Amino acid sequence: MKLLNELKALGYNVILEGDRIRATYTLSGNPPADRVKPLLDELRNHKDDVISHLKAGVAEPVNEKPYWQKLDGSCRICRTTGAWLSIHNVLVCLTCHPPAHEKLVARWGHA
Ligand SMILES: [Zn+2]
Repeated sequence: MKLLNELKALGYNVILEGDRIRATYTLSGNPPADRVKPLLDELRNHKDDVISHLKAGVAEPVNEKPYWQKLDGSCRICRTTGAWLSIHNVLVCLTCHPPAHEKLVARWGHA
């Protein structure tokens, strides 16, 4: 998501807390307010999009090789083998990022 990438490039970490978006400035000093403000306004205006994007989990985009093969059969973080393909065409670990809603799931898969 372009908006999230731009915020990230400016040093922001954007996470979901329950159903609220939390943007934290991770660099030292003050954020460049003139560049950040329009992005934060956009974040508020597209709150629902951003939330569903964050809920879908930020994982590597799908390429030719299935996620579970690429990870040698298990998630690098939790070592479980379950995964799901989101409607945004992103494969996500079932344990680290369970889908917030079945409507987000295009396909279930596992190692
Ligand atoms: Zn995992």
